[in-house]
Amino acid sequence: MKIAILSRNENLYSTRRLKEAGESRGHEVDIIDTLHCYMDITRSRPAVRYHGKQLPKYDAIIPRIGASITFYGTAVVRQFEMMGTFSVNESIAISRSRDKLRSLQLLSRKDVGLPRTGFANKADNIPDLIKNVGGAPVVIKLLEGTQGIGVVLAETNKAAESIIEAFMGIKADILVQEFIKEAGGSDIRCFVVGGKVVAAMKRQAAEGEFRSNLHRGGSAKLIRLTKEERATAVNAAKVMGLNVCGVDILQSSHGPVVMEVNSSPGLEGIETATKKDIASMVIEFIEKNGKPGNTRSRGKG
Ligand code: ADP
Repeated sequence: MKIAILSRNENLYSTRRLKEAGESRGHEVDIIDTLHCYMDITRSRPAVRYHGKQLPKYDAIIPRIGASITFYGTAVVRQFEMMGTFSVNESIAISRSRDKLRSLQLLSRKDVGLPRTGFANKADNIPDLIKNVGGAPVVIKLLEGTQGIGVVLAETNKAAESIIEAFMGIKADILVQEFIKEAGGSDIRCFVVGGKVVAAMKRQAAEGEFRSNLHRGGSAKLIRLTKEERATAVNAAKVMGLNVCGVDILQSSHGPVVMEVNSSPGLEGIETATKKDIASMVIEFIEKNGKPGNTRSRGKG
């Protein structure tokens, strides 16, 4: 097959591994820099142009769209969909997953376990917002944050009120969430491919830290998921409409709760922790599903 990986940097671990895995399974794999694609939106012949030429017809694309380029990146993916190219994750599902509030609302509609979460735009009734998620300690999150930046633990109601006021004062969008203390500074990353959890790892925060992000000094180890955790991850991926994703789960006293669903999950941490060849599983998924026109929305969304 002819496969394109949409990625800003061919040297990234995930990009390299996907190319390697594709080629070793006999496919032709190109890495295309998403931001260098430009589009010809002709009525009957949509095309993507790149460095002065029209890109050839690919059987499938693997979008690796970073959070900072979601807007343009999803437009490029949509253009491929309009051309009938199969996308591992559809543009509409990627956009959906990038909006934290929308994601939580969609997950809650389908009864996926979530931490009690509230959000507001105005500082009208901050004490009530805090009370509604169970009172302090609470976690306050910047909607725009990634890699744990902008995730704050407020131990008292007073501290929570001042932090929320401060964020609202600078017009930053936030959500307020019940602090899952019993998770003990750890979370579970489930890697889902084609409706199955193919690998999982438990990430533990560094001493004195509650955020388990590997970028923040967290460490990862293998974990055997419970049936309920596995079902939660699979269900979350399904609700978001993502074929390949990372579902982050906290082990709470009221069962597994989903924190986030990531549409471009990194391969390095999970392949290292589990010693599994996840890149090849993504390619196998494409081999089974990457037929022309097999993209549900065909660029409509
Ligand atoms: P980001 O998307 O920036 O990584 P997350 O929402 O995943 O932000 O939060 C970063 C880390 O903080 C998580 O991996 C988890 O360890 C911890 N964390 C986040 N929300 C909660 C919560 N409600 N209760 C307990 N720990 C949390």
